[in-house]
Amino acid sequence: MRSPAERLRTEVAEVTPEGDEQACTDGVRRAILLDFDHTLFDTDRFFWVDLKSAFARFGVPDDAWEKSYEATWPSGYSLAKHLAELNRLGAMSEPATTRTMLAALDTAFSDLRPYLFPDVLEFLNTARRQGFDLILLSFGDPAWQSYKVRASGLAPYFQKIVYTAKQEGKAEVLDDLGQRYRELHAIDNNPADLDAMKARCPRLRTHLICRVEPSTTLEANGGSRDRFREAARYLSVPSRLPHHRCTSLAEVPLSCPE
Ligand SMILES: [Mg+2]
Repeated sequence: MRSPAERLRTEVAEVTPEGDEQACTDGVRRAILLDFDHTLFDTDRFFWVDLKSAFARFGVPDDAWEKSYEATWPSGYSLAKHLAELNRLGAMSEPATTRTMLAALDTAFSDLRPYLFPDVLEFLNTARRQGFDLILLSFGDPAWQSYKVRASGLAPYFQKIVYTAKQEGKAEVLDDLGQRYRELHAIDNNPADLDAMKARCPRLRTHLICRVEPSTTLEANGGSRDRFREAARYLSVPSRLPHHRCTSLAEVPLSCPE
């Protein structure tokens, strides 16, 4: 029986290259715009559970971790910046410790494939077989987002990857894509982003995905609060426009038009 890592490696290798077999032959160009954090990638488990625990193993207290994270985030997150901020706060001892920590964290988190939600690779492969172009729209610091996308093995699946640090960046992409594709879908966990995209391109088929397990939000304390810490915040963001709601990619209908 193959290990999860071996299975992931095989599935990545099975990506259909662009231009290969297309199930839809009616000439209609179609594409799916996919968000990364909390949609394809379990960002909370990576960041707020495992990365935070790794810092704790080096003696960094939780409150210092959170304070330094809040200070680091606005200028674009990176592990090196986070460690520098911990140093500035006096939460780290020697420069040698910083170097040791950075090297250990780089090694421990060089492969992020285990943080993909379990339905992701099957969905991307199916969409490609059905003739969809796949476009990743990722909000956040481009260098940090690029690291996560590369380390999770997703880059080869996409015909286009857009990293944007601008709040309205995702909607702006629609100006160009709306001209190029007759059928367009967008899948995102943030209702505000879907609203902005749909306002820009009203025929966009929007799918609002929620990966938060309901049982976890009921016990909002301690470790379980961190398990869906950032994803749960989107539950209180109102939608101005209607979107198809789902909890997994399997619920997103992909079919060729008649
Ligand atoms: Mg997201």
